[in-house]
Amino acid sequence: PSTTAASKVVLITGAGSGIGAATARTLAAVGHHVVLGARRTERLSALAEDIEARGGSALPIALDVTDPAGVRSFVHTAHDRYGRVDVLVNNAGVMPLSRLDALRVDEWNRMIDVNLRGVLYGIAAVLPLMRDQHGGHIVNISSVSGLKVDPTAAVYSATKHAVRALSEGLRQESRELRVTVVSPGLTRSELTASIGDSGIKDAVREQMGIAIPATAIAEAIRYAIDQPADVDVNEIVVRPTAQG
Ligand code: NDP
Repeated sequence: PSTTAASKVVLITGAGSGIGAATARTLAAVGHHVVLGARRTERLSALAEDIEARGGSALPIALDVTDPAGVRSFVHTAHDRYGRVDVLVNNAGVMPLSRLDALRVDEWNRMIDVNLRGVLYGIAAVLPLMRDQHGGHIVNISSVSGLKVDPTAAVYSATKHAVRALSEGLRQESRELRVTVVSPGLTRSELTASIGDSGIKDAVREQMGIAIPATAIAEAIRYAIDQPADVDVNEIVVRPTAQG
């Protein structure tokens, strides 16, 4: 890997597939130490091995972002290993789309638990460390659904709007933290796997025909992370040119 960028310790949630995995590869390739968190640890181990085989540095750790103690342990294991935590990328997310009148309340709760509470638990786990370090960077993955609302996406959109709101609140409260929201449009990943309604799943998979590769989002995240310490990139939206 090139060593032109200052090497940072970057924690990535949901790192086993899609945007998280592409981000891990992209950041490791420019010399950052990546710490990979997700529930499917075999995915993380395979990814870490591949990154290390290419000369990068990766540490896989089992993580369920809906468990606050587990999120703290993820962050502290990384901190014990490297002595610091420079960046947290809150990327883990699920998108079981449905109409509100389908009353899939368990799926609403799942989105709130992973997409919103999971982000808050990540922030809670790193804030004390970043305060002690007098700096740090939190990158939250929202969505184009954090900027607009579509039918079947009310709850998903609500979680992604919330991620943008709390990121802005976090930014306003700290003069030492950098806070970035990255809002992807249609991006190739495994995200549609969580859609339980087969009609909606088929329709979304058809829309995904124009999706861009996850590396396009990873490049935006890398751009924000690799800016000088006094430059805080607050918001990036990246979508397919053909997306409405
Ligand atoms: P993927 O499904 O490929 O990746 C999501 C990852 O999140 C999975 O690897 C999954 O790993 C992990 N995850 C899910 N639940 C948990 C949990 N409880 N704890 C820890 N990790 C969890 O989809 P994407 O790469 O597309 O999604 C990444 C982010 O990008 C999400 O926040 C999504 O909302 C957002 N996004 C994606 C868009 C797209 O078009 N793809 C568009 C806009 C935003 P595991 O199951 O092993 O835990």
